[in-house]
Amino acid sequence: MLSYRHSFHAGNHADVLKHTVQSLIIEALKEKDKPFLYLDTHAGAGRYQLSSAHAERTGEYLEGIARIWQQDDLPAELEPYISVINHFNRGDQLRYYPGSPLIARQLLREQDSIQLTELHSSDFPLLRSEFQKDNRARVEKSDGYQQLKAKLPPVSRRGLVLIDPPYEMKSDYQAVVAGIHDGYKRFATGTYALWYPVVLRAQIKRMIKELEATGIRKIMQIELAVRPDSDQRGMTASGMIVVNPPWKLEAQMNNVLPWLHKKLVPTGIGHATVSWIVPE
Ligand code: SAM
Repeated sequence: MLSYRHSFHAGNHADVLKHTVQSLIIEALKEKDKPFLYLDTHAGAGRYQLSSAHAERTGEYLEGIARIWQQDDLPAELEPYISVINHFNRGDQLRYYPGSPLIARQLLREQDSIQLTELHSSDFPLLRSEFQKDNRARVEKSDGYQQLKAKLPPVSRRGLVLIDPPYEMKSDYQAVVAGIHDGYKRFATGTYALWYPVVLRAQIKRMIKELEATGIRKIMQIELAVRPDSDQRGMTASGMIVVNPPWKLEAQMNNVLPWLHKKLVPTGIGHATVSWIVPE
Protein backbone atom coordinates (compact mmCIF):
# COMPACT_ATOMS: atom_id res chain seq x y z
CA MET A 1 0.00 0.00 0.00
CA LEU A 2 1.42 3.37 -1.00
CA SER A 3 0.62 6.08 1.51
CA TYR A 4 2.92 8.89 0.35
CA ARG A 5 1.10 11.76 -1.40
CA HIS A 6 3.23 14.49 -2.92
CA SER A 7 0.35 16.95 -2.52
CA PHE A 8 1.46 17.50 1.12
CA HIS A 9 4.92 18.59 0.01
CA ALA A 10 4.51 20.19 -3.42
CA GLY A 11 6.52 23.37 -3.85
CA ASN A 12 8.65 22.91 -0.73
CA HIS A 13 12.38 23.69 -0.64
CA ALA A 14 13.18 20.19 -1.88
CA ASP A 15 10.94 20.61 -4.94
CA VAL A 16 12.56 23.98 -5.64
CA LEU A 17 16.01 22.37 -5.72
CA LYS A 18 14.85 19.31 -7.69
CA HIS A 19 12.95 21.27 -10.31
CA THR A 20 15.70 23.86 -10.72
CA VAL A 21 18.14 21.07 -11.57
CA GLN A 22 15.56 19.29 -13.77
CA SER A 23 14.83 22.43 -15.78
CA LEU A 24 18.54 23.25 -16.29
CA ILE A 25 19.25 19.74 -17.58
CA ILE A 26 16.29 19.97 -19.97
CA GLU A 27 17.46 23.36 -21.25
CA ALA A 28 20.94 21.92 -21.84
CA LEU A 29 19.51 18.99 -23.84
CA LYS A 30 17.57 21.49 -25.95
CA GLU A 31 20.80 23.10 -27.14
CA LYS A 32 20.88 20.41 -29.87
CA ASP A 33 17.96 19.96 -32.29
CA LYS A 34 18.08 16.19 -31.97
CA PRO A 35 15.14 14.82 -29.98
CA PHE A 36 15.50 13.34 -26.51
CA LEU A 37 13.50 11.29 -24.02
CA TYR A 38 12.37 12.56 -20.64
CA LEU A 39 11.75 9.53 -18.41
CA ASP A 40 10.16 10.19 -15.00
CA THR A 41 10.07 6.96 -12.96
CA HIS A 42 8.06 8.33 -10.01
CA ALA A 43 5.94 11.01 -11.60
CA GLY A 44 3.32 11.93 -8.97
CA ALA A 45 0.00 13.60 -9.83
CA GLY A 46 1.45 16.28 -12.12
CA ARG A 47 -0.38 19.31 -10.78
CA TYR A 48 -0.94 20.38 -7.17
CA GLN A 49 -3.50 22.85 -5.91
CA LEU A 50 -1.85 24.89 -3.17
CA SER A 51 -5.18 25.81 -1.54
CA SER A 52 -6.02 22.11 -1.10
CA ALA A 53 -6.42 20.61 2.37
CA HIS A 54 -3.18 18.65 1.87
CA ALA A 55 -0.98 21.61 0.92
CA GLU A 56 -2.60 23.89 3.51
CA ARG A 57 -2.13 21.32 6.26
CA THR A 58 1.67 21.40 6.00
CA GLY A 59 2.13 24.85 4.41
CA GLU A 60 5.49 23.62 3.08
CA TYR A 61 5.24 25.61 -0.15
CA LEU A 62 5.20 28.82 1.91
CA GLU A 63 8.83 28.14 2.84
CA GLY A 64 9.64 27.01 -0.69
CA ILE A 65 8.35 28.31 -4.00
CA ALA A 66 6.38 31.16 -2.33
CA ARG A 67 9.68 32.67 -1.16
CA ILE A 68 11.23 32.94 -4.60
CA TRP A 69 8.75 33.04 -7.48
CA GLN A 70 8.21 36.81 -7.49
CA GLN A 71 11.66 38.05 -6.54
CA ASP A 72 12.99 40.95 -8.64
CA ASP A 73 16.59 39.73 -8.53
CA LEU A 74 15.87 36.26 -9.88
CA PRO A 75 19.10 34.68 -11.21
CA ALA A 76 19.03 33.74 -14.91
CA GLU A 77 19.47 30.06 -14.00
CA LEU A 78 15.98 30.07 -12.47
CA GLU A 79 14.21 31.56 -15.49
CA PRO A 80 13.13 28.31 -17.21
CA TYR A 81 11.72 26.90 -13.94
CA ILE A 82 9.97 30.10 -12.88
CA SER A 83 8.55 30.57 -16.40
CA VAL A 84 6.67 27.29 -15.85
CA ILE A 85 5.45 28.43 -12.41
CA ASN A 86 4.20 31.64 -14.04
CA HIS A 87 2.48 29.69 -16.80
CA PHE A 88 0.32 27.91 -14.21
CA ASN A 89 -0.22 31.03 -12.08
CA ARG A 90 -1.42 33.95 -14.16
CA GLY A 91 -1.65 36.95 -11.86
CA ASP A 92 -0.24 37.50 -8.41
CA GLN A 93 -1.65 34.54 -6.58
CA LEU A 94 0.22 31.28 -6.25
CA ARG A 95 -2.52 28.69 -6.82
CA TYR A 96 -0.90 25.73 -8.52
CA TYR A 97 2.41 23.97 -8.32
CA PRO A 98 3.48 22.01 -11.41
CA GLY A 99 5.25 18.75 -10.58
CA SER A 100 8.14 17.35 -12.59
CA PRO A 101 5.93 15.93 -15.43
CA LEU A 102 4.29 19.30 -16.09
CA ILE A 103 7.62 21.10 -15.92
CA ALA A 104 8.85 18.72 -18.61
CA ARG A 105 5.63 19.14 -20.60
CA GLN A 106 6.12 22.92 -20.73
CA LEU A 107 9.84 22.88 -21.49
CA LEU A 108 10.11 20.01 -23.98
CA ARG A 109 9.74 20.52 -27.74
CA GLU A 110 7.53 18.87 -30.34
CA GLN A 111 10.26 16.38 -31.33
CA ASP A 112 10.95 15.19 -27.76
CA SER A 113 9.16 12.39 -25.93
CA ILE A 114 7.91 11.89 -22.39
CA GLN A 115 7.59 8.62 -20.52
CA LEU A 116 5.91 8.73 -17.10
CA THR A 117 5.11 6.09 -14.50
CA GLU A 118 3.12 6.43 -11.29
CA LEU A 119 1.73 3.66 -9.10
CA HIS A 120 -0.64 5.43 -6.70
CA SER A 121 -4.29 4.70 -7.48
CA SER A 122 -5.38 8.30 -6.75
CA ASP A 123 -2.46 10.12 -8.37
CA PHE A 124 -2.22 8.00 -11.52
CA PRO A 125 -5.62 9.06 -13.03
CA LEU A 126 -4.83 12.71 -12.29
CA LEU A 127 -1.52 12.38 -14.09
CA ARG A 128 -3.05 10.53 -17.03
CA SER A 129 -5.71 13.20 -17.54
CA GLU A 130 -3.02 15.93 -17.65
CA PHE A 131 -1.42 14.21 -20.64
CA GLN A 132 -4.50 12.98 -22.51
CA LYS A 133 -3.99 15.41 -25.37
CA ASP A 134 -0.21 15.28 -25.49
CA ASN A 135 0.92 12.89 -28.21
CA ARG A 136 4.56 13.15 -27.08
CA ALA A 137 3.70 11.39 -23.82
CA ARG A 138 3.09 7.86 -22.54
CA VAL A 139 1.72 7.54 -19.03
CA GLU A 140 1.71 4.12 -17.36
CA LYS A 141 0.59 2.74 -14.03
CA SER A 142 3.62 0.59 -13.45
CA ASP A 143 6.76 0.28 -11.38
CA GLY A 144 9.21 3.10 -12.02
CA TYR A 145 12.33 1.02 -11.45
CA GLN A 146 11.24 -1.45 -14.16
CA GLN A 147 11.28 1.38 -16.70
CA LEU A 148 15.03 1.68 -16.29
CA LYS A 149 15.28 -1.73 -17.93
CA ALA A 150 12.26 -1.60 -20.23
CA LYS A 151 12.56 1.88 -21.75
CA LEU A 152 16.31 2.33 -22.11
CA PRO A 153 18.12 3.11 -24.29
CA PRO A 154 15.75 5.51 -26.03
CA VAL A 155 15.59 5.44 -29.83
CA SER A 156 16.99 8.98 -29.86
CA ARG A 157 19.99 7.92 -27.69
CA ARG A 158 19.62 11.14 -25.73
CA GLY A 159 17.73 11.62 -22.54
CA LEU A 160 17.12 12.66 -18.96
CA VAL A 161 15.94 10.11 -16.42
CA LEU A 162 14.46 11.57 -13.22
CA ILE A 163 14.28 9.16 -10.28
CA ASP A 164 12.26 10.61 -7.43
CA PRO A 165 10.85 7.94 -5.09
CA PRO A 166 9.15 8.78 -1.78
CA TYR A 167 11.67 6.78 0.34
CA GLU A 168 8.76 5.66 2.51
CA MET A 169 10.31 2.21 2.27
CA LYS A 170 13.93 1.96 3.41
CA SER A 171 14.57 -0.33 0.43
CA ASP A 172 14.30 2.71 -1.86
CA TYR A 173 17.83 3.76 -0.80
CA GLN A 174 19.18 0.55 -2.38
CA ALA A 175 16.64 0.35 -5.20
CA VAL A 176 17.67 3.74 -6.60
CA VAL A 177 21.30 2.64 -6.91
CA ALA A 178 20.35 -0.67 -8.53
CA GLY A 179 18.00 1.24 -10.84
CA ILE A 180 20.67 3.70 -11.96
CA HIS A 181 23.08 0.80 -12.51
CA ASP A 182 20.46 -1.08 -14.59
CA GLY A 183 19.78 2.02 -16.65
CA TYR A 184 23.45 2.88 -17.10
CA LYS A 185 24.29 -0.60 -18.42
CA ARG A 186 21.77 -0.01 -21.21
CA PHE A 187 22.27 3.70 -21.74
CA ALA A 188 25.65 4.91 -20.48
CA THR A 189 25.45 8.35 -22.11
CA GLY A 190 22.11 9.32 -20.56
CA THR A 191 21.76 11.87 -17.78
CA TYR A 192 20.32 10.42 -14.56
CA ALA A 193 19.02 12.77 -11.86
CA LEU A 194 18.27 11.20 -8.51
CA TRP A 195 16.52 13.12 -5.73
CA TYR A 196 17.24 12.22 -2.10
CA PRO A 197 16.11 13.50 1.30
CA VAL A 198 18.50 13.85 4.22
CA VAL A 199 16.67 12.40 7.21
CA LEU A 200 19.54 10.36 8.61
CA ARG A 201 22.91 11.28 7.13
CA ALA A 202 24.17 7.70 7.54
CA GLN A 203 21.57 6.48 5.03
CA ILE A 204 22.83 8.90 2.38
CA LYS A 205 26.47 8.04 3.05
CA ARG A 206 25.64 4.35 2.56
CA MET A 207 23.71 5.07 -0.64
CA ILE A 208 26.64 7.08 -2.03
CA LYS A 209 29.12 4.31 -1.17
CA GLU A 210 26.96 1.84 -3.08
CA LEU A 211 26.78 4.21 -6.02
CA GLU A 212 30.59 4.58 -6.05
CA ALA A 213 30.89 0.79 -6.01
CA THR A 214 29.03 0.53 -9.34
CA GLY A 215 32.08 2.00 -11.09
CA ILE A 216 29.99 4.68 -12.80
CA ARG A 217 31.95 7.92 -13.33
CA LYS A 218 30.93 11.58 -13.67
CA ILE A 219 28.60 11.76 -10.68
CA MET A 220 27.81 15.19 -9.24
CA GLN A 221 26.07 15.96 -5.95
CA ILE A 222 24.06 19.10 -5.24
CA GLU A 223 22.62 19.64 -1.78
CA LEU A 224 20.62 22.30 0.00
CA ALA A 225 20.15 22.02 3.77
CA VAL A 226 17.63 24.13 5.64
CA ARG A 227 18.91 22.88 9.02
CA PRO A 228 22.04 21.13 10.24
CA ASP A 229 22.03 17.30 10.19
CA SER A 230 20.11 15.86 13.11
CA ASP A 231 19.11 12.56 14.73
CA GLN A 232 15.58 13.86 15.27
CA ARG A 233 12.70 13.04 12.94
CA GLY A 234 12.25 15.04 9.77
CA MET A 235 14.09 16.10 6.62
CA THR A 236 16.88 18.61 7.21
CA ALA A 237 18.16 18.79 3.62
CA SER A 238 17.65 17.39 0.17
CA GLY A 239 19.87 16.80 -2.77
CA MET A 240 20.22 15.80 -6.37
CA ILE A 241 22.76 13.28 -7.55
CA VAL A 242 23.38 13.70 -11.28
CA VAL A 243 25.15 11.12 -13.44
CA ASN A 244 26.53 12.63 -16.67
CA PRO A 245 25.51 16.21 -15.86
CA PRO A 246 25.58 18.74 -18.71
CA TRP A 247 28.97 20.48 -18.64
CA LYS A 248 27.48 23.83 -17.55
CA LEU A 249 25.48 22.48 -14.60
CA GLU A 250 28.28 22.74 -12.03
CA ALA A 251 28.87 26.44 -12.75
CA GLN A 252 25.13 27.15 -12.97
CA MET A 253 24.43 25.55 -9.60
CA ASN A 254 27.43 27.27 -8.00
CA ASN A 255 25.94 30.56 -9.20
CA VAL A 256 22.36 29.97 -8.15
CA LEU A 257 22.66 27.94 -4.93
CA PRO A 258 23.84 30.75 -2.62
CA TRP A 259 20.90 32.88 -3.81
CA LEU A 260 18.43 30.05 -3.31
CA HIS A 261 19.81 29.25 0.13
CA LYS A 262 19.57 32.90 1.22
CA LYS A 263 15.96 33.21 0.04
CA LEU A 264 14.78 29.84 1.29
CA VAL A 265 16.59 30.04 4.64
CA PRO A 266 16.72 33.71 5.65
CA THR A 267 18.36 32.79 9.00
CA GLY A 268 21.32 31.37 7.07
CA ILE A 269 21.49 28.00 8.84
CA GLY A 270 22.14 24.79 6.89
CA HIS A 271 24.32 24.71 3.79
CA ALA A 272 24.32 24.66 0.00
CA THR A 273 27.00 22.68 -1.83
CA VAL A 274 28.01 21.36 -5.24
CA SER A 275 30.63 18.61 -5.34
CA TRP A 276 31.73 15.52 -7.26
CA ILE A 277 31.11 12.05 -5.86
CA VAL A 278 33.09 10.60 -8.78
CA PRO A 279 34.76 12.92 -11.31
CA GLU A 280 35.14 12.15 -15.02
N1 SAM B 1 8.47 13.50 -9.32
C1 SAM B 1 7.30 14.17 -8.77
C2 SAM B 1 7.52 15.67 -8.86
O1 SAM B 1 8.67 16.13 -8.77
O2 SAM B 1 6.55 16.38 -9.06
C3 SAM B 1 7.03 13.78 -7.35
C4 SAM B 1 7.04 12.30 -7.09
S1 SAM B 1 6.74 11.82 -5.44
C5 SAM B 1 8.15 12.33 -4.56
C6 SAM B 1 6.96 10.08 -5.54
C7 SAM B 1 5.83 9.34 -6.26
O3 SAM B 1 6.25 8.00 -6.52
C8 SAM B 1 4.54 9.21 -5.47
O4 SAM B 1 3.50 9.81 -6.17
C9 SAM B 1 4.32 7.69 -5.32
O5 SAM B 1 2.96 7.32 -5.42
C10 SAM B 1 5.11 7.16 -6.49
N2 SAM B 1 5.63 5.78 -6.36
C11 SAM B 1 6.02 5.13 -5.26
N3 SAM B 1 6.57 3.94 -5.59
C12 SAM B 1 6.55 3.86 -6.95
C13 SAM B 1 7.04 2.90 -7.90
N4 SAM B 1 7.65 1.78 -7.49
N5 SAM B 1 6.87 3.17 -9.20
C14 SAM B 1 6.27 4.30 -9.62
N6 SAM B 1 5.80 5.25 -8.78
C15 SAM B 1 5.94 5.03 -7.45
